[in-house]
Amino acid sequence: MSALKDRIGARIAAEGPLSVAQYMSICLGDPKDGYYTTREPFGADGDFITAPEISQMFGELIGAACLSAWDALGCPTRFELVELGPGRGTLMADFLRVAALRPAFIQAARLNLVETSPRLRRIQADTLHGASLEPAFRDRFQDVPAGPLILVANEFFDALPIHQFLRTADGWRERRIGLTAQGDLTFGIGTAALPATAVPASLGSPPEGAILETQPAANAVAEEIGARIAGHGGVAIFIDYGYLKTATGDTLQALYRHDRDDVLAHPGEADLTAHVNFEALAAAATRGGATALAPLTQGDFLLRSGLLERAGALGAGKPHDEQEAIRDAVERLAAPDRMGDLFKVLAVTNSGLPITPFDSAP
Ligand code: SAH
Repeated sequence: MSALKDRIGARIAAEGPLSVAQYMSICLGDPKDGYYTTREPFGADGDFITAPEISQMFGELIGAACLSAWDALGCPTRFELVELGPGRGTLMADFLRVAALRPAFIQAARLNLVETSPRLRRIQADTLHGASLEPAFRDRFQDVPAGPLILVANEFFDALPIHQFLRTADGWRERRIGLTAQGDLTFGIGTAALPATAVPASLGSPPEGAILETQPAANAVAEEIGARIAGHGGVAIFIDYGYLKTATGDTLQALYRHDRDDVLAHPGEADLTAHVNFEALAAAATRGGATALAPLTQGDFLLRSGLLERAGALGAGKPHDEQEAIRDAVERLAAPDRMGDLFKVLAVTNSGLPITPFDSAP
């Protein structure tokens, strides 16, 4: 049994069962044994590979979208460039290589990396060593100085804690994690109930056993960002795997060495994520005062942004095996049965601002 599993067990024995959100926060963020504190999850040797680690084209195309967003904003001469949860810093390194083609953008930008893990901060600083902007690290989005905003977040919201509610004969009860008689972690239900008003009417009357997830932590960040954009102008691009309309379903998942794992089996050793509810995320940004444009699938976003053209340019004159690798990356990023459909891209902006390659209507 891992040290973290022992400590979680001891805490439940002393204080009672944990919410799924508490369990997720401990597993991912525990300062000593949390997943992001101790692991190197993102590369080929880790538990999963994220889009920026698949190909430089991903960060480059996001960079290009942000350059055109800066134009749409009227080229502010001072703005806050922000990435939430930068992982190894790969996306931002690729982004900044493209951005360096517009010296006025670089001159106007102040780079803020919002990252809680000290270990990942060191890796991000290394990756960006010698890049055109020096990062300032922030613990939370709220710590980013006020001003016009250009923000990106890839696979950030899926790591924020969710709550789960189980439909019972007695209404929606919060799912909790307790201990069996043998001292193993197990799911149960608590007394906390979801008020009927928190359940969208569009869900109808789900059967007993259905699970409904809420993401107050993700929504709170999106609302803050929406408020900042409403007040100072800006654009935020959120990329994550998730669903476009609120629905029931258990999306909490653990990945351990590239394989699906029981979510209670390896706390702190397995990556733990949940699918993002983009309807709720867009509503939160809108509550903050910003406009959420209609989300695109990652495949559509990348293809509209010129993925195929970029791949062609990148592969031109390269040996056959490198061209093959580029073609393979295009598949992985954009094909509907790979990341193309599951991942969604949401753009949030101040009213009326057209953002390439999104449709301008919400
Ligand atoms: N964007 C990267 C990494 C995604 S993993 C990529 O695409 O490769 C999630 C990232 O968010 C990690 O860097 C993790 O340390 C960070 N993170 C998780 N929870 C966070 C929080 N509450 N505040 C800030 N960063 C967080």
